[in-house]
Amino acid sequence: MLEKDTDLVVIGAGPAGLAAALAAAEAGVGEVILIDRLEEPGGILQQCIHNGFGLRYFGEELTGPEYAWRFIEPLAQYPQIQLKTGTMVIELTADRRVVAINPRDGLVVYRAKAVILAMGCRERPRGAINIPGSRPAGIFTAGTVQRLMNIEGLLPGKTAVILGSGDIGLIMARRLTLEGVKVRAVLELLPYSSGLQRNIVQCLDDYQIPLYLSHTVTRIRGEQRVSAVEVAPVDDRLQPLSDQRFAIDCDTLVLSVGLVPENELSVNAGVQLDPATGGPLVDSNYQTNLPGIFACGNVVHVHDLVDDVTEESRMAGGAAALYIRGQLAKVTMIRVSGGRNVRSVVPQQIAPDRPTTLYVRARFPERNRILRVADNDRTKLPVVAPGETIRYTLTPKELQEYREDLSISIEGGASHA
Ligand SMILES: Cc1cc2nc3c(=O)[nH]c(=O)nc-3n(C[C@H](O)[C@H](O)[C@H](O)COP(=O)(O)OP(=O)(O)OC[C@H]3O[C@@H](n4cnc5c(N)ncnc54)[C@H](O)[C@@H]3O)c2cc1C
Repeated sequence: MLEKDTDLVVIGAGPAGLAAALAAAEAGVGEVILIDRLEEPGGILQQCIHNGFGLRYFGEELTGPEYAWRFIEPLAQYPQIQLKTGTMVIELTADRRVVAINPRDGLVVYRAKAVILAMGCRERPRGAINIPGSRPAGIFTAGTVQRLMNIEGLLPGKTAVILGSGDIGLIMARRLTLEGVKVRAVLELLPYSSGLQRNIVQCLDDYQIPLYLSHTVTRIRGEQRVSAVEVAPVDDRLQPLSDQRFAIDCDTLVLSVGLVPENELSVNAGVQLDPATGGPLVDSNYQTNLPGIFACGNVVHVHDLVDDVTEESRMAGGAAALYIRGQLAKVTMIRVSGGRNVRSVVPQQIAPDRPTTLYVRARFPERNRILRVADNDRTKLPVVAPGETIRYTLTPKELQEYREDLSISIEGGASHA
């Protein structure tokens, strides 16, 4: 087994890992090992062939692969970045030993001065939501369907029902329709969609695909292949009203029921997680509780826009470069916590000496609200939606007032929950 000293290891070469590696190299890091288990860099973007990426960061509307290419192409200008694809990281320790494996090199242990976690997230499968019924073929997660169609060129079936109306479910409804699959319905357990409003219009309304809010799948029917799903409305406590159930014939059930940050490496290394996001707790530098271990992208919190992934990952890369040089300032961080109608806030600890962009997620939808930081109303929120991240940049001047905990809440106005 080969052991090697290096400056920085970045785990994951999706948009987060690519941006972090480039920012670290631009900041002068001597050697960056950028690792991905897939054969191509770009992460989930390579299968997202729809447009809608990069509006904020590039001021252009790009497809996923085009957005990824904006970060893959410049790798050639930085020979200090060694891209290792087809390589799986199987272990990380608190003292920054990264164990990686591939068929060419076998097992390699990198002893790194800093590590950036950029492993993205994974989809919740059927087992996570315990849908009763038989176990026929034809049940897929949305990401698997997307990969089958956009990369492998395969159709999953002919008639589909989609469970979950987050962005991935909505985008797959349109994609399946464009390829000739009849999408009978998109079902959503909650009384609202957690997807972006633009996706509800462009992916469902434009194709007359019905959205059933407050409905769920109560049983899967079929022997060899799915033949129908039983569906029922749910009450206020999200319990199915069985007496009102009905069946929808279909040969395919697509599950888009949530993403969970890829945590195994982080947890085994002793990285502390935030129960609200499921990802590592990070500070303004995107450093975790373990010195020299940084995290960015969907491994930290599930993003709706890749532009935010890029911004925070560049920050993580720059901070890792400072850490490696021993120049990352040690400041007492202010702890941030979520108050009324706030499900999560990232970063969870902020430095008082520089601007920090907060990414806030609401618990439920409302209109005409205000983002409150401690006791001060900061910005108007005409529409609050759990699927749309609220960004707010706190300045050092604003932070002068606070030295201890800082509570962020959504207040005021009439509730439309
Ligand atoms: C269907 C869908 C539609 C979307 N639509 C939009 C949109 O229209 N606009 C928009 O802005 N954003 C969109 N997004 C969101 C955007 O794509 C994500 O926010 C972004 O890709 C997250 O980047 P990431 O690098 O954190 O994760 P990923 O892209 O998931 O990359 C993580 C990488 O880490 C690798 N990895 C994980 N574990 C290991 C390991 N142990 N060893 C080695 N490698 C590992 C994985 O192979 C992967 O390549 C969409 C996402 C999806 C899924």
